[in-house]
Amino acid sequence: MNAIEITNLKYRYHDGTEALRGISFRVSPGECIALLGPNGSGKSTLLLHLNGLLPEKIIGDGAVKISGEALAPENLAKIRRQVGLVFQDPDDQLFCPTVAEDVAFGPQQLGLGEAEIAARVKLALAQVGLPGFEQRFTHHLSHGEKRRACLAGVLACEPAMLVLDEPTSDLDPRGRREFKALLREIPATKLIATHDLEMAVELCPRSIILDHGQIIADGRTVELLADEPLMLAHGLERPHILHHLHPH
Ligand code: ADP
Repeated sequence: MNAIEITNLKYRYHDGTEALRGISFRVSPGECIALLGPNGSGKSTLLLHLNGLLPEKIIGDGAVKISGEALAPENLAKIRRQVGLVFQDPDDQLFCPTVAEDVAFGPQQLGLGEAEIAARVKLALAQVGLPGFEQRFTHHLSHGEKRRACLAGVLACEPAMLVLDEPTSDLDPRGRREFKALLREIPATKLIATHDLEMAVELCPRSIILDHGQIIADGRTVELLADEPLMLAHGLERPHILHHLHPH
């Protein structure tokens, strides 16, 4: 069964902006896919469809299926349990005073018992390299620590799929390296919207390139990113990491 199956998905914002114009693709369980494209190409809008934050109503014959279940009001809760979404800005995600409270929020929504919640918080913080951070104040964390805390909050819900919006933006080189190493260790199916093309090469065997709300290319990351005309035509560039693989 496909982890994600999207068919002819369209989305128009209230002001008439056509953000998605007929998107179709499938993801197998365990895949790690980079979602690439210039600003405004529809990446965030697409990610918001994967756990039902959008839309109010699917236009036309479009469909989103998560593990075989169609996105519909009656199974939103179930779908949100399977798909963990990490927002682009950690400050949009963190809202409790302490790290422990924040990471516990998701598991509490799942109705788990206190002991189980505490165990999950501890495990998730260890997984993201923040062991012992339970009582730290979220607003005192560094940017990199905030990103990890957000990831811990999502991992504590044990989702089968992780959807990340620009997970390495605003991180310094070491923060970026460490965050990539963390992601690599997580076995969930992953869809990562990013401008970090090196991360795409390092973590994602497959990439999907969006532009103007449409899929321009879907294939092997190293092949797509080495295609200079394709990259330049869509506001991207061939990353340096590929230069030694495909010298001109
Ligand atoms: P990306 O994540 O690739 O930068 P977005 O999904 O944010 O792209 O945006 C896709 C298009 O939808 C853009 O034209 C953007 O201006 C528009 N858009 C995004 N959010 C809204 C909104 N809340 N209202 C109206 N238009 C929006």
